[in-house]
Amino acid sequence: ERVYGVSQWGGGYFQVGENGNVHITPVPEDPSIRIDFKSVIEEIREEGVQFPVVVRFHDILRSQVASLNTIFRNTIEEAEYNGRYQGVYPVKVNQMREVVEEIVDAGAPFNYGLEAGSKAELLTVLAMNVNEDSLTVLNGYKDAEFMQLALLGRKLGRKIVVVVEKYSELLLLVKTAKELDIEPIIGVRAKMTVKGRGKWESSGGERAKFGLTISEIIKTARYLESQGMAHCLKLLHFHIGSQLTDIRAVKEAMTEGARIYADLHKMGFALDYVDVGGGLGIDYDGSNSTNESSRNYSMQEYVSDVVYGMKEMCDLEEVPHPTLISESGRAITAHHSCVVTEIVGEIKSNSAQVDTRAADGEHFFVKNIRELLETYDQQTNMQEVYNDASQYKEQALDAFKLRVLNLEELAKIESMYWQIMERLQVWYAKEEYVPEELQELDYSLSSQYLCNFSVFQSAADTWAIDQLLPVVPLTRMNEPPSVNCSLVDITCDSDGKIDQFTIGREITDVLPMHPLKKDEPYYVGLFLTGAYQDVMGDMHNLFGRLNEVHIFSYDDDPEDFYIEEVVKGSSVEDVLNIMQYNPRAMAQDMKRLIDKQISTGNINPREAVRWTDFYENCLSGYTYLKP
Ligand code: PLP
Repeated sequence: ERVYGVSQWGGGYFQVGENGNVHITPVPEDPSIRIDFKSVIEEIREEGVQFPVVVRFHDILRSQVASLNTIFRNTIEEAEYNGRYQGVYPVKVNQMREVVEEIVDAGAPFNYGLEAGSKAELLTVLAMNVNEDSLTVLNGYKDAEFMQLALLGRKLGRKIVVVVEKYSELLLLVKTAKELDIEPIIGVRAKMTVKGRGKWESSGGERAKFGLTISEIIKTARYLESQGMAHCLKLLHFHIGSQLTDIRAVKEAMTEGARIYADLHKMGFALDYVDVGGGLGIDYDGSNSTNESSRNYSMQEYVSDVVYGMKEMCDLEEVPHPTLISESGRAITAHHSCVVTEIVGEIKSNSAQVDTRAADGEHFFVKNIRELLETYDQQTNMQEVYNDASQYKEQALDAFKLRVLNLEELAKIESMYWQIMERLQVWYAKEEYVPEELQELDYSLSSQYLCNFSVFQSAADTWAIDQLLPVVPLTRMNEPPSVNCSLVDITCDSDGKIDQFTIGREITDVLPMHPLKKDEPYYVGLFLTGAYQDVMGDMHNLFGRLNEVHIFSYDDDPEDFYIEEVVKGSSVEDVLNIMQYNPRAMAQDMKRLIDKQISTGNINPREAVRWTDFYENCLSGYTYLKP
């Protein structure tokens, strides 16, 4: 726990049990419901599902939906706020059908709705969000078909709000609505001057991609008035960026947004809704700070700032309290899913040691480094030893290229160099002051644990924007982790790695893990992958979607759970089809090529059948390694 900080980033859903395994408490208010992750892994294995696997805890998803809605309700009551809360879940954060279905179901008692930002998402939410009392908010850029679909929703009696992102969309919407004779509900997205803090801060500010300037908002309102449609303008929307790290940005956005709402009201445009967008952050590194992968506030503090911020401005301006909408996606989904994978190997720069004993006639470069290895002790200056050893190694490489040293001599020098470095590392661990160059030794001497997964498929943001995601061994946490390592994936891409971790409050490039055992698989979990990571991945190297298991807890046995559904990941055939291959034809071609070898006597007929079957089985198999 001290190393991995599970309870700090776990949001109350994950703990380290006394047996050293990660435990899941999917309903934080009821800690008696406690699932041992090791039993989940065993059940997955018994079901014959191949790793890596995405494990979804649907109870967590439900808990997050209930928390957000309950906190809003309670805060509204406590603040004596006269409006309601009617949140929407932005499906882009995780569009998986099972996820959206679960959210819609858990949100039904709160009339929790959905948000869509593209035509495909709109088609989805039209079919999924059938509760007439919940809202559907439509953001993103729109064409005529998009407008028609939204108006179809209105025809079906649904509360669908088309949020105008740019002025030309307004003209298109009004034209289409008039042609179809259907009254739209219209929102405007304001381009905010306040910027969020963190990786997504470009969503706000004057250069933001989306939204209308204040002059455009006024022009929109006036145009609608001229068309006899002022009453259709019902919603003001703003979104200053995802993962807001600093609560001050939320406060500033509320002040600006509430002022726009209040003034529009005073100009005669009585909007019903203010939509504060997304941004509610997640504490990925457990530091509860303004670090890029954290945030310095809780869900309750965020909600309080939204509710009280709006109330104060409305009371000052003497306008009614609007219904509040938020579009939190990350906070709803991040915790519920986790990638579980097995470590399938260890890569170490100094793992192969050759016999370094003196041999007759060896080059003096070899003798020099041996002498250094044998004579230096703790009285010698550490930096000097490091410099000499590094110089010998560099010289040896040059000499090898100039054909002065042979391969065996080079190997000896390399082995002795790493022995010196290892001893230096043990030595300086006891020192208070460590020169900068030597500090890097921790990283160069660390192992790389080879993980059976693809960063590009399962953790795209760690590669694209250095997003930190917690990585934790799922078992053996009652043993001291003695191997410092970073993680590398199985793609042929050197960017396919994870070398950013959090230990306590520090961000490090290596993580202590446990030594691998020959007869016991070592499973690690990549946590908080439910938001964006689950759906943004690509098929680099043709590694496809992961197998998924959906876990539910049993009401009557707090320690038990069941796999409600297994969703098969991509087979090789699936990914090849996407790339325009014809796997059936490929199998036939291979059969023909193999059969041809029978006539040459290179393969006998029985072997030919076996090879053909093998090729076909691999085509229909999983894209990841079979450890
Ligand atoms: N709404 C809009 C308009 C967005 O662009 C986003 C994401 O950036 C969201 C909602 C979801 O934000 P978050 O995941 O931070 O809650």
